[in-house]
Amino acid sequence: MKLDSTLEAPSHSRLAKLHDCRRAYGYRYVMGLRSRGSQSTKSLGGKAGHAALDTLHRLGWEAREIADNHIDAIFSEHVSNPEWLTAEHMKGIIGNYIERYADEDDDFRRLRLNADDVLKNEAVLYSDLAGRVADDGSFSMNEMNMVVQLDDKLKMTLVLDMLVERKDGTVWVADHKFTAQYLGQGVLGRYITSKQMPLYILAARKLVGRCDGAILNAVWMGQAACNPASKATKFDRYYFDYTEGQLEEALEWAALSRGRAQSETNAFGFNMEYWPQNPSSYCSGCDYLQLCEVAPAMRPGRITQWYDLAEAEVEDAE
Ligand code: SF4
Repeated sequence: MKLDSTLEAPSHSRLAKLHDCRRAYGYRYVMGLRSRGSQSTKSLGGKAGHAALDTLHRLGWEAREIADNHIDAIFSEHVSNPEWLTAEHMKGIIGNYIERYADEDDDFRRLRLNADDVLKNEAVLYSDLAGRVADDGSFSMNEMNMVVQLDDKLKMTLVLDMLVERKDGTVWVADHKFTAQYLGQGVLGRYITSKQMPLYILAARKLVGRCDGAILNAVWMGQAACNPASKATKFDRYYFDYTEGQLEEALEWAALSRGRAQSETNAFGFNMEYWPQNPSSYCSGCDYLQLCEVAPAMRPGRITQWYDLAEAEVEDAE
């Protein structure tokens, strides 16, 4: 593996992958390998759910039909696996979401921003604003892809799901999480200690001058989730605030991680020939396990057989 010098504006998921496993990082971000069929129905469920919530929070609850159409379009080219996780299942979940939150007491509403303010904002180096701006020049922050200068040394690529204003007037960044399992304490703990939300808060501050915390908007998409009569917990919102010290720490983490990705040590780690490197639980869920398990000399052939080559520099949306 050559040195990774493409880290002009890395995403959080890219930097986090480096800490998970530098070999997986190299496969994904330097070689650009995507395992064929990695679009599992579960990830399609998340993608369809995000598109539906984006529509509902942008256009209002009455846009249900448009949200449903997005779900149909995303599922139309894939066979469901497991078979109960279908477009109909996801539409049922979205119906329950509307039932749960569509009233005036919902704790937050999306923030409308002025497109001009974003375009003139020197900290926003790139945004996919086009197509989002209303006739009055306003737009709502929904899954917007941006490159933001977080401090004088660090630019990052971020996709903010939503910026919202709560009833008390504070501004929060909200992140939708569609999960196959209920969120246990372990997952929540990892979410809180991850640097993703602190970095999003810092980006939101660059964008609108303020941001008080992060909301995890959790949607469970298990088998009983689309049944309105089911008593299972389907939706939860968790509110996290961070100290200024924790935000500072996230910036330092990102800068250090980027340096580490570019280092000789990282390239050396990737090129070591033993495999897999973490033969415990982490490797068992990895997209590259098949590849790690074959001898290095056999890998080039297997790559063509099992993987698609994605643009190495494409960042994962989060
Ligand atoms: S199988 Fe294990 S060692 Fe190989 S890339 Fe995945 S996590 Fe890393």
